[in-house]
Amino acid sequence: MVGYLYDPIFTLHETGNHIENKNRVILIDEMIKSTFSFYPLELKAQSKEDLYKIHDKSYVDWVEKGYENGVRMILNSDTILSKRSYEVALSAATCTKRAVEAFKNKEIKRAFLNLRPPGHHAERMMGQGFCIFNNIAMMAKYAQDMGFKKVMIIDFDVHHGNGTQDIFYKDDTVFYFSTHEKNNYPYFTGSEDEIGEGKGKGFNLNCPYKDDIEDDEFLSLYDRLPKNFDFDILLVSAGYDLMKDEMISSANITFEGLSKLIERILDFSKNKPVAFLLEGGYNLDSLVKSVEITFDLLDRK
Ligand SMILES: [Zn+2]
Repeated sequence: MVGYLYDPIFTLHETGNHIENKNRVILIDEMIKSTFSFYPLELKAQSKEDLYKIHDKSYVDWVEKGYENGVRMILNSDTILSKRSYEVALSAATCTKRAVEAFKNKEIKRAFLNLRPPGHHAERMMGQGFCIFNNIAMMAKYAQDMGFKKVMIIDFDVHHGNGTQDIFYKDDTVFYFSTHEKNNYPYFTGSEDEIGEGKGKGFNLNCPYKDDIEDDEFLSLYDRLPKNFDFDILLVSAGYDLMKDEMISSANITFEGLSKLIERILDFSKNKPVAFLLEGGYNLDSLVKSVEITFDLLDRK
């Protein structure tokens, strides 16, 4: 059975008419609860100190006190700080610990984490691009703490995960693999020559692609997944903004193409624990259908 994590606290990051809003996780939750049986993973209270493993302490403390100090956005108006955003973002990052525990205790082998705000643009020193804290980086650190020493991250969001790359750029125990649209946010990161630094050299692989990409060409990029990185756990930054009905990109990935991608990722996992963490995806119909396809394959493949 697939582990599923959702908590109503994720609706309390108030972003108004912004495309990254609470309806995303609410509609996904309704679909999953009405369509699938699953193994429930509950949100547990966590401490902010955990965030210091991936973010600079001064940044975490600034966000914590931000709202009361009059801060209403992080870096720019893309990333809103509402009254309870800190608490929600802390929950989104640290709830991932429960999923790692469930893998460790062999309660589950696969999980889907329906959370927000997303995380992969949040760098060590600063959030941005709708992201406050880096959820998948936090999960990778928890996984390592609990004995999953080598962590593979695949990021199929249409945008480059500059934050995840930044946090693990000098690390040879976390392999970051990203496919993303070249001419899209965050623009100044994500090129093929960013391959990691120091010990981390060779453990960062970016596959930028042209505008208007279609299924076959997109899927062929996954031939480049590393063959010699013997990971203990696979984490996926599942951003559904690469789908053809999304307004935020020009990529033309179909539901059939998405199915093939998910199958490809599950084959690559070689039956190691796999967690999908929600990142982008803003056309609500397309998003819900895409998560349904993902969850179904996690469940039966
Ligand atoms: Zn995105």
